[in-house]
Amino acid sequence: MIYIGCHLTVKDGYKAMGETMTRFGGNTFAWFTRNPRGGKTKPIIPEDVNALRRHLEEKHFGPLVAHGSYTMNLCSANEETRRNGLDMLQQDLRTMELLPGNLYNFHPGSHTGQGTEAGIKQIADALNNVLTGEMQTTVLLETMAGKGSEVGGTFEELRRIIDQVELREKLGVCFDTCHTWDAGYDLVNDLDGVLRQFDEIIGIEKLWAIHFNDSKNDRGSHKDRHEKLGKGFLGTEAMKRIARHPLLQGLPFVLETPNEDEGYIEEIREVLSWMEE
Ligand code: FE
Ligand code: FE
Ligand code: ZN
Repeated sequence: MIYIGCHLTVKDGYKAMGETMTRFGGNTFAWFTRNPRGGKTKPIIPEDVNALRRHLEEKHFGPLVAHGSYTMNLCSANEETRRNGLDMLQQDLRTMELLPGNLYNFHPGSHTGQGTEAGIKQIADALNNVLTGEMQTTVLLETMAGKGSEVGGTFEELRRIIDQVELREKLGVCFDTCHTWDAGYDLVNDLDGVLRQFDEIIGIEKLWAIHFNDSKNDRGSHKDRHEKLGKGFLGTEAMKRIARHPLLQGLPFVLETPNEDEGYIEEIREVLSWMEE
């Protein structure tokens, strides 16, 4: 089995997200910890978060996968951007402790001309700054499409970040199927081979979550444009093999496909039907 859900917004509070996902037929979800364009977060009401925790338990949800802001860039050449990123990360992780035992995923960052090695070091430095031994959240680096100066477009780069972090037991990876495909990994013809590579380079035990997206572009395009399940270059059969892969069972699968509510309900239903075939 897998856990399945999609991105939701926190606009009506935390408990409302749990209820919405139950209505959608899923049992995990993702949300942006702040406005995707950056900026301030709404104050958190402890009773609301506690009501969500009760809902998650009652409905047997899998781990949730919060998403850090797109504006958070821990390896920008601009020092102020880096400092803001660090502040956001620190605040987000503090918030996450209200929902212990869940996952927080973020884009490693774009080195904006500094070079990959410099970027990797800055990302690791930031993580060394904010991770604590007491933290109950696992922090996930997302596999990226390798667009522009993005860091994390190869498994090796993610490994090099993890290697430079002291509390690496608090770190994991979120595998975005669109990004990984766009980065050049052949999820259609060689899923086993890609997962074997992941295991050799990073370690399969570091794989904590899947962003389950089809891609509008062909393999190796480095584009990062998500498509609805089965409507893109990955296609239904490949998506089905991913959802059913023995190494990926028990993980939360989060849809980030271009859909409205009805589309997500339909995709969740479809994925669950694959699991029963
Ligand atoms: Fe992402
Ligand atoms: Fe993603
Ligand atoms: Zn993406």
